[in-house]
Amino acid sequence: MNFNRATFIHAEFHSAVTPNLLNYDAAQLTGFFADIGEKPFRAKQLLRWMHQCGEADFSNMSDLAKSLREKLAACARIEAPRIASDATAADGTRKWLIDVGNGNAVESVFIPEANRGTLCVSSQAGCALDCKFCSTGKQGFNRNLTTAEIIGQLWIANKALGATSKGERVVSNVVMMGMGEPLANFDNVVAAMRLMLDDNAYGLSRRRVTLSTSGIVPAIDRLRDACPVALAVSLHAPNDALRDVLVPINRKYPLAELLAACRRYLDKAPRDFITFEYVMLDGVNDSVEQARELIALVRDVPCKFNLIPFNPFPQSGFKRSPREAIRRFAETLLAAGLVVTTRKTRGDDIDAACGQLAGKVDDKTRRTRRVVEIQPC
Ligand code: SAH
Ligand code: SF4
Repeated sequence: MNFNRATFIHAEFHSAVTPNLLNYDAAQLTGFFADIGEKPFRAKQLLRWMHQCGEADFSNMSDLAKSLREKLAACARIEAPRIASDATAADGTRKWLIDVGNGNAVESVFIPEANRGTLCVSSQAGCALDCKFCSTGKQGFNRNLTTAEIIGQLWIANKALGATSKGERVVSNVVMMGMGEPLANFDNVVAAMRLMLDDNAYGLSRRRVTLSTSGIVPAIDRLRDACPVALAVSLHAPNDALRDVLVPINRKYPLAELLAACRRYLDKAPRDFITFEYVMLDGVNDSVEQARELIALVRDVPCKFNLIPFNPFPQSGFKRSPREAIRRFAETLLAAGLVVTTRKTRGDDIDAACGQLAGKVDDKTRRTRRVVEIQPC
């Protein structure tokens, strides 16, 4: 059975050394084609096959010459991440657990609504930023996802959902609100978002792609120049003293610097406001006085507030604010003329709501291996 063994070794070797074309945005793919002596328009053809048709087999790409198909098969591959599980909730929310190798897994969640379908995408296996109310933070950090693993989540969702909806674009919106801090994986996240926006790939408008950050100030400025999409900022506290504890990156980039970066971002943003996310923690950040402090804090930043009822997880040490406290907090902001929405919990019967996702991360920062709940959006 020499033949089988040789074939196996060849396949292993091929996948280890050949580039995965799902890692490339349009400019990078054009560069790849130049390197193999092909014209730039081939990049557009490949993008359409990969991202619009969900095709991973070069031999099916009928408008490429046979010789080019063979050349590509010999020097490249198209490899989406592996789906470890797929579950659909009673409300239609669908969750994929994605195996990213070496015992690590991340999740993406599709949330269908009457007029849109939103995919919540992960950017890292774990997160190093250690926000105190976040189960991803509790997991520690393993590694950045590759561009292929990030855009692969959209690839997987469109393929799975397209099969049941006669080819319509089912994912109309993307939120980078899954596992991880997207701005800490800047290059791969930007390449993946460029593919989301590219007309030859997913063709989403900038307004329909939202990146959520805990507030890495220099990276907010870089994003503004590299790929300005809608921006959500995880505020969670009305002053530095509390934010230093809840969102430790605040010690490096305090509120005054963060809010100044938000204002700068608006010069190039596709929307004329920043969305401030605010997790509602019982007795910690949910009083009427704190709502008033918040109003004063954001007075110079055009913004909308999204209140997120805390989703508890084991040993979090926090409780969700009572409904009445959330209502009072929202009304205080509303009375000051702010726009406020309170996030609904979706897909809780398949553990797909905020704070319920069970990703698995082999922590490289704390050298402990745990399976804990992570939170997406
Ligand atoms: N790292 C990014 C994006 C991922 S988290 C960020 O921090 O913005 C997406 C949102 O969910 C953030 O606003 C985050 O603070 C919030 N979140 C984290 N843990 C939560 C929990 N247990 N319950 C509710 N929201 C949570
Ligand atoms: Fe990381 Fe965001 Fe969780 Fe903070 S809230 S630990 S930045 S994923």
